Amino acid sequence: MTRVAVVGGGIIGLAVAAELLGRGADVTVHDPSPEGTDGAWHVAAGMLAPGGESAFEYPHLTRLLEAGHELWPDFVAGFGDVGYDRTGTLSLALTADDVAEAAREWRHQKLAPLTGSQVRDLEPAISPRVRAGALASSEHQADPRKIVAALRAHLQGRSVARRISDLSELNADVIVVAAGCGTAALTGLPIRPVKGQVLRLRGEPGLFKHVIDGVADGRHVYLVPRADGEVVVGATQEERADRMPTAGGVHDLLRAALDLVPGLAEHELTEVTVGHRPGTPDNAPILGFLDDDRRVVVAAGHFRNGILLAPITARLVADLVLTGSADPILDPFAPGRFR
Ligand SMILES: Cc1cc2nc3c(=O)[nH]c(=O)nc-3n(C[C@H](O)[C@H](O)[C@H](O)COP(=O)(O)OP(=O)(O)OC[C@H]3O[C@@H](n4cnc5c(N)ncnc54)[C@H](O)[C@@H]3O)c2cc1C
Repeated sequence: MTRVAVVGGGIIGLAVAAELLGRGADVTVHDPSPEGTDGAWHVAAGMLAPGGESAFEYPHLTRLLEAGHELWPDFVAGFGDVGYDRTGTLSLALTADDVAEAAREWRHQKLAPLTGSQVRDLEPAISPRVRAGALASSEHQADPRKIVAALRAHLQGRSVARRISDLSELNADVIVVAAGCGTAALTGLPIRPVKGQVLRLRGEPGLFKHVIDGVADGRHVYLVPRADGEVVVGATQEERADRMPTAGGVHDLLRAALDLVPGLAEHELTEVTVGHRPGTPDNAPILGFLDDDRRVVVAAGHFRNGILLAPITARLVADLVLTGSADPILDPFAPGRFR
């Protein structure tokens, strides 16, 4: 039986560990706080948006995002309710300038533009000031907190409370480094924290049902409605490592949110959180063997798409750990491109 040490119990480490366990490996997950909320997953909205997030990225990343998106129905099948919702995403533009900016992306994604009244037919809560929109019906959502809870339950007894500071501390046949932003210190790979502020509001369920991804007076915002009345409002994107919510960040998010859906003004503001996306120089994840001795596999640097990419990362990294090779779709993501 292959003994695997997974470093990092965020959504990537847990998804990889669950897949390996299911395929018969002897897995241990090492994380300083296995029941904690330190990872980016705790802040993330859980948009599963292969088009919206990647419209201007590299074709090989788009391929990985689209292939990963297809695995979601199978991935969530065994979990019970993790907020997986396929209603779709409405992209909105408030002003004429916002329409000009958004229209580029709609063309790229081959989405048909909708008038303001057409978007209000779909979601009556949208402001009468919104000029135009487009429906991306294949962009979905899931609740990362519920997914992590389900993965933790599945892996019960397999986690140890331990921060790894040197990979030589670990006694295993194969080590998977899935420590998010902590991966840089362990491997020397160029993964940097990209700060994001996120708000959570709560009100009567059903104000709107689509994920809304909008721009209002040049301010970008997304609104992710959960079935229980929570609405996740995100996110700033800042090249900073601190954990401080700022007045400007919260103001910009709330202002754009209320410009697009005025009824949110009556919601309770329940959380202001800060997380760090594990960013890489080319915005693509780092997946593959670290060195020629093929004992250490890296699964990190998922930047803005780590929730969407968790199922495909789990499957391909498990292939690599157990067979030594994986689908060629992984080739462009090898750690070697930065060494
Ligand atoms: C504001 C924001 C919004 C986002 N929205 C989305 C979204 O809508 N859709 C999407 O797909 N993605 C989204 N993301 C991105 C997503 O959250 C990340 O890409 C994903 O969480 C990365 O998963 P991870 O497991 O690699 O890292 P994390 O979730 O950060 O987990 C890393 C874990 O490693 C542990 N660790 C760190 N160092 C060590 C060490 N030395 N030893 C042991 N353990 C260690 C930490 O304690 C932590 O538990 C968002 C991120 C942010 C910040």
